[in-house]
This record gives sequence, C-alpha cells and structure tokens, in this order.
Amino acid sequence: MQAYYDADADLTVLQERTVGIIGYGNQGRAQALNLRDSGVRVIIGCLRDESARQAEADQFSVLSIPQAVERADVLALLIPDEVQRQVYQETIARRLRPGQTLDFAHGYNIHFRLIVPPPEVDVIMVAPRMIGTMVRESYLAGGGAPAFVAVAQDASGKALATALALARGIGATRAGALLTTFAQETELDLFQEQGLWPLLIRTMLMAYEVLTDRGFPPEMVALEMYGSGEGAEIFREMARQGFFRQMRLHSQTSQYGTLSRAQQIPFLAQMRSFMERALSSVRDGSFVEEWRKEQAEGYPRFRELRAQAQAHPLNRAEEAMWQLVKQRPA
Ligand code: NDP
Repeated sequence: MQAYYDADADLTVLQERTVGIIGYGNQGRAQALNLRDSGVRVIIGCLRDESARQAEADQFSVLSIPQAVERADVLALLIPDEVQRQVYQETIARRLRPGQTLDFAHGYNIHFRLIVPPPEVDVIMVAPRMIGTMVRESYLAGGGAPAFVAVAQDASGKALATALALARGIGATRAGALLTTFAQETELDLFQEQGLWPLLIRTMLMAYEVLTDRGFPPEMVALEMYGSGEGAEIFREMARQGFFRQMRLHSQTSQYGTLSRAQQIPFLAQMRSFMERALSSVRDGSFVEEWRKEQAEGYPRFRELRAQAQAHPLNRAEEAMWQLVKQRPA
C-alpha cells in the first residue's frame, strides 16, 4: 500500500482555499480545530443549535450549511452517514460549483451511490482511523491519527494533493495516510462491523451464559470478561506490540491455554462462511438496501434489537459490578 507522510503533503495547496466543515460533532470539531491550528482557513456550516454554540465558543465563523457551501472551496461533510444523502440533496447539491472539492470521512454514501456529485467537482476521502477526541488529542500531543485517503473523482487534477493537504492539516500524515479506494474503505469498515464484531459479541454473551448457568456470580463474570478493562488493555497492546507478541505480558499458563484451545474450535468452517456471507451482503448491496428500508420504515427492527440488548441480564450484572467495584477503567 502507498503511504504518505508530512513530507509528501503540501499544505500550500489549501493556502488560497477555504475549508467548510459541515457538521460540528465528533469528527467535525476535531478536524476543524486541527486544520485551524495547522494554518488552514476554516469556516463551519451547521444547524443553529448546540453544535453551532460549541463552534462559536471555539471562535469559528459559523454559518448556515447553504452559506458555507457558497463560501467554501473544500467541503468536508462531517455529519452522520445516515443523514448525508438528504442534506446533500436538499441543501448542498444545487449550490455546488465547478472546482469545489467534496471531502468525506467514510466512503459509504459515495461508494453505494447514495450521493452522486456532478463530474466537475473533486470527490475525496480523508478517513481517520480514530474517534474525534483522539484525532484532536493525538494532534495536540504532536502526533496524529492514521487515516485512509482516497480519490473518487479528480476533476481538477489536484484531488489527491488536496486530500493529502487535508490529511496533513488534521495531523494524519504524521502517523501515515494510506492510499485506498472508497470501495475498500467502505467494505472493510462494514465487514468489521458485520463480520467480526457480531462474532465477538455473541461469543462473550455465550461465555456469560455458560458461566452464570454454572453458578458463577454475574457481576464477577462481567468484571472478568471486560469490566476491569483488561480486555481493552489487551487490544491496546495488540496495536502497540503485536497481535501475538503482546501475549508475553500474560503467564505461560495463559498463553498455552489460549493457543491450544484456539486450535480445538470445531466450527471454524461455519465462522468462515458467516464472514463470507457478511462480506457478500456488503458487496452486493443487499445490506445497504436492508438498512435503507429499515430507515424508511422508522427503524422497527433496529428498535427491537436495541430493546433486546437493553433487556439482557448482562446489563443488571454490570450494575451490580459497579456497586462493588467503585472505580471504572480510565
Ligand atoms: P456526529 O454524529 O458527531 O455528527 C454530528 C454533527 O452532525 C452535529 O454537528 C450535528 O448537528 C450534525 N447533524 C446531525 N444531523 C444533521 C442533519 N440532519 N442536518 C445537519 N446537520 C446534522 O458525526 P461523526 O463525526 O461521528 O461522523 C461524521 C463522519 O465521520 C461520518 O461520515 C463518519 O462515518 C465519519 N467518521 C466518524 C468517526 C467518529 O469519530 N465518530 C471516525 C471516523 C470517521 P446537531 O448538533 O444538530 O445534532
């Protein structure tokens, strides 16, 4: 994969351009603050509400979304993916001018053609691999969040240079901006959510059920599985030291137990076929269609799934756990 760092990214590409950040939430606030600190001219376009008050408190020039589209040269669409299509169609599309750049932090709406920009604008992606607060904190600490960058439309011939300049402005090229496509970023992100996390979550719930059925106190199980923060620490060390290398932090009994039992799992073929199906339903558009229908009908299945999750006995177990263990992981 091609990776870009500070030396590959020229911030002067943005010198004569104004960046309009649309939406001042998780990514919007972090990216706006980082870009301004990097010397980029930034305006904010958002609804008149809590976000606008926060942006004003941060001393940005805050406009309505239509005004921001008219004033900005580069538009970073940093509102939730689910509302981007509607906001784009109702407020942005008819105001776009040739030469403008549309920037996304996730490929979903462009890849699935829910937003189809006119050919005379550049369409790019700068997608940090961290939540907004970390994008800001890592920048302030002198580092940055790694990001995926991509170009879907290059009307100006400068789309990649613009994406790299934005990546540098938010601090991403300090860590590394990896060149990908809208398709790969979107499919990978959705696969992670639909092919990997469901298995992890279902496995943990199954472990909870086995142990509590066998008489272990629910709050003790919750503490052991994730409540102490040890699990989060293992993931952190996987990222720092390596997936297997972090195992050195655990006893040999633990290492032997984990590695030997991982080879005894009898349903690996089914797991693989579950993952293949998850990827296929992302790739063939059937997930997007299912989710679009769910949204159009007012989220009936989603509400039901959330209600089921909220009713799971694990919620009560963790309440009991927090009664006993007074300090939560930092
Ligand atoms: P947020 O949910 O934090 O966005 C909130 C902002 O969007 C607020 O300013 C909110 O205004 C505004 N907004 C919500 N609905 C509307 C609407 N209908 N019309 C106009 N403005 C609206 O979004 P994220 O920062 O989480 O996500 C933005 C993009 O970044 C997405 O594409 C996401 O996939 C991507 N991304 C997000 C990451 C993260 O850290 N969460 C990580 C990497 C990528 P109000 O105050 O009115 O609610």
